[in-house]
Amino acid sequence: MNIAIDGPAGAGKSTIAKLAAKKLGFVYVDTGAMYRSIALYVIENDVDPDDEAAMSTALDKIDVSIAYEDGAQHIFLNGRDVSTEIRQETVGNMASKVATKPAVRAKLLDLQRGLAKKQDVIMDGRDIGSFVLPDAELKIYLTASADERAKRRYNELVSKGQTPELEQIKQDIIARDYQDMNREIAPLVQADDAVLIDSSDMTIDEVADRIITLCRQC
Ligand code: C5P
Repeated sequence: MNIAIDGPAGAGKSTIAKLAAKKLGFVYVDTGAMYRSIALYVIENDVDPDDEAAMSTALDKIDVSIAYEDGAQHIFLNGRDVSTEIRQETVGNMASKVATKPAVRAKLLDLQRGLAKKQDVIMDGRDIGSFVLPDAELKIYLTASADERAKRRYNELVSKGQTPELEQIKQDIIARDYQDMNREIAPLVQADDAVLIDSSDMTIDEVADRIITLCRQC
């Protein structure tokens, strides 16, 4: 069985998907981490994402793989565990940019579908229900207001000892949503058969429980 969770940046997809996967005994697959790994390579190797030939050469040199340790997903870029590094804001913003490129999306599609084929997964991203796993038994579109998403991200960074600007975070979130929703290929959309959950006024446990209830009904 496969569960697809899509939605905009900062809606809580990964936290909730991880929790629900644990409760259901499913494997959690974070597809954003795959785009972030390619973005990290692009940043570290000074590749211009708009230069098609340079991107094509870079993609030939990139190997993205995932492995699980104690149930947690670790992502490897050419054999190096980059799970922590890819969480930086600069990497997230570059991920949104490289994700507009068809060659990047094509490279990751087989990896994502292969993982879903061999086990029960909860996979989160932007195009999982609409494109990657159109036959997923349960599809969730998880969202929250831009203010609430910015506030959550702000609190997360503060708890890590950083000193972020709330307004800047909100503007970055709005820009990333726009880019993800308006790209030509596999944009962020709610699939016709997805259940909409607005988590603005819900706790993490409430959202996870809702997904588990929906899963047991299908
Ligand atoms: O979810 P996360 O913020 O880690 O994703 C980073 C970026 O990767 C997103 O802003 C989006 O542009 C891209 N992405 C995508 N399709 C997915 C998952 C992520 O285009 N399935």
